Amino acid sequence: MTKQRICIVGDGLSGLMTAVVLAKVPGIEVNLIAKKGTKNTDKRTTAISDANYKFVNQNITNLGQKLFWPSQKIELFYETAKEKINFLNLNEANSNLMYVFENDKVKNVLLKEISKNKIKLIRKELKNLDESKNYDLFILCIGGQSKIYDNITNARSIKKDYKEIAITGYIRHNYKNLNTSQFFLKEGPLAILPFSKNHFSFVWSVKKYFFENNSKKIINLVRKKIVEILKNKQDITITNVQSYPISLRLRKKYYKDNVLILGEGLHSIHPVAGQGFNLVLRDIKKLKEIIKYYVGLGISIKNSYALNDFYNSRKPENTIMGLGVDATHSFFKQNKYLDPFKEIIVKNIKNNETLKKFSKIISNRGLSL
Ligand SMILES: Cc1cc2nc3c(=O)[nH]c(=O)nc-3n(C[C@H](O)[C@H](O)[C@H](O)COP(=O)(O)OP(=O)(O)OC[C@H]3O[C@@H](n4cnc5c(N)ncnc54)[C@H](O)[C@@H]3O)c2cc1C
Repeated sequence: MTKQRICIVGDGLSGLMTAVVLAKVPGIEVNLIAKKGTKNTDKRTTAISDANYKFVNQNITNLGQKLFWPSQKIELFYETAKEKINFLNLNEANSNLMYVFENDKVKNVLLKEISKNKIKLIRKELKNLDESKNYDLFILCIGGQSKIYDNITNARSIKKDYKEIAITGYIRHNYKNLNTSQFFLKEGPLAILPFSKNHFSFVWSVKKYFFENNSKKIINLVRKKIVEILKNKQDITITNVQSYPISLRLRKKYYKDNVLILGEGLHSIHPVAGQGFNLVLRDIKKLKEIIKYYVGLGISIKNSYALNDFYNSRKPENTIMGLGVDATHSFFKQNKYLDPFKEIIVKNIKNNETLKKFSKIISNRGLSL
């Protein structure tokens, strides 16, 4: 039987993961198009939920356990003029809430998996969609910005420029018992994500003007802030500092003919809740199920309702989660009139067991309850 041909474009986390997962579907041949000579310069970490970790683990053979650092506890703090209120602690005694990995290391593992699975890697930059005619399915995982998407959809997306920059970096330290934490500070949310015994990464989302006005002394500002919030004066080493502009974009249309958008191109969301790649992984899981179903029935993906099924099953969650993260970000933004009320609300969250349970389920499994 001739195999159905799928081409994936882009070697970010979304493209690499999609290629590896879909190559496991019987009856499918996968090609990957990726730009020439892109050095792996992504020095961020990514936090994924326990359910998504299990999905990744099932699909990558020989995944080094050390690549994923587990977290059983997540602490949330809200900064007022007087104090930092620890308003929510999520923890699991017998399982992990999430796992943190270094993006560049996992991308290298995925690239090895690609050559092991005999996925054909074509090194070039995609200029237009002419090539999509040669495939049953053509999947664009080319990030949030490409003009190529204009060929697929003119439908208006839900869009917002936060005018914020996420400053990221790694910190070497000797702190004891450091937990994954999110601090809602007056300058913007700062996440601390341990990824080894003596390292954590940080993501500090600040206003663009704050970043630009302080760009020359940003490392010192980060150092001062970390020492202040962790209430510990010990020496820390900061490396791999990078910056990423933040925006919200939730596409209203996902595909045209046999060309599908996936990854950051489909939904770019604020990093405050660490949900972007979690949504991508759930998209990939659903896409695999749908493709397996159609290919298993001997139906050509090109002439089927596969992409429509994907759109119908994933768009509601992607939109609700994207807007939910946006609402969370807006709630914690500094506002001198609303801040006293927010203080009362966050103080009451601490004792709300139902909310705690709900937050854990949603961040683990999304809305597929
Ligand atoms: C600061 C920050 C922190 C984050 N933290 C988390 C987190 O903790 N948890 C979480 O779940 N998510 C997180 N995210 C989201 C997560 O990083 C992304 O969802 C994830 O990296 C997937 O990106 P991508 O592969 O879709 O896009 P990209 O990483 O942008 O990759 C796109 C790829 O396509 C290639 N490309 C582009 N154009 C072409 C072309 N024409 N031809 C060929 N190739 C092309 C590029 O070279 C690139 O390799 C975070 C995001 C940010 C900004």
